Amino acid sequence: MTETLSTLRPVAAVVDAIETLEGGGFLVHRPFPTANLDMVDPFLLLDEMGPTEVAPGEAVGAPDHPHRGFETVTYMLEGEFEHRDSAGHHGVIHTGDVQWMTAGSGVVHSEMPGARMQRDGGRSHGLQLWVNLPRADKMTPPRYQDLRAADIPAVERDGVSVKVIAGDALGVSGPASTHVPILYVHAHIAAGATLDLPVDEDANVFAYVLAGSAELGDDREAHRAQMVLFGSGGDGVRIGGGESGAEVIVLAGRPLREPVVRYGPFVMSTKNEIVQAFDDYQSGRMGSIPAS
Ligand code: MN
Repeated sequence: MTETLSTLRPVAAVVDAIETLEGGGFLVHRPFPTANLDMVDPFLLLDEMGPTEVAPGEAVGAPDHPHRGFETVTYMLEGEFEHRDSAGHHGVIHTGDVQWMTAGSGVVHSEMPGARMQRDGGRSHGLQLWVNLPRADKMTPPRYQDLRAADIPAVERDGVSVKVIAGDALGVSGPASTHVPILYVHAHIAAGATLDLPVDEDANVFAYVLAGSAELGDDREAHRAQMVLFGSGGDGVRIGGGESGAEVIVLAGRPLREPVVRYGPFVMSTKNEIVQAFDDYQSGRMGSIPAS
């Protein structure tokens, strides 16, 4: 796939995701935050949920919990998730859909397998990304962008297919509206093919390998559940499909370069703001999920 890149971003590190349990006890692969890598400003967290084969009646999710000060971006690669929250929002995202939730001043929400998944089981695979909000926008009202699979443009050529969720790539624009410039793409790179992806000069950039092996040049590669952190100084990244092909997501975002104080579900700029968030949540000022 040909985009003209004059200088490639170097590979700064290839990082293994850790395995940990989240929500009601489902396994995630988490490239960050870990003891070794706190964040990739403005990105605070990436979790890959599954892929898992869920037995009937055994699906688990994340029951009622709050968030304040950032955005949660859920991309359903396979399966379905049902979302409810204290602002009265309710929806189900299916394979290929994205929910881009701006928690802002605060919501209490639940993220659960859909009713059909709970009853019948099935294959479940998804990603959740946390995007920090600029300090000035942390108390913005909550907002939802339900991005349906059909609204996410895809480009296919030369053995590479790319879906663009946010930002501009390969001549198309993703539907997500973001607070700072962000590029979020999902790419399938065939064996022997190459993805050349331009990125903003000031952006922090990483890729995460969902399947196969990504070739990175200089005899380096990254495998499933590994993250590639790119360094600065270049106008794009190059990822090859190698001998087996690769499925990756690539994220690029303009860093906020602001103080980050995080505690559990809250990400603010000062310790006092975290104390305030707990107080607001415990006093019910973030609301509660209406009974269905
Ligand atoms: Mn959540």
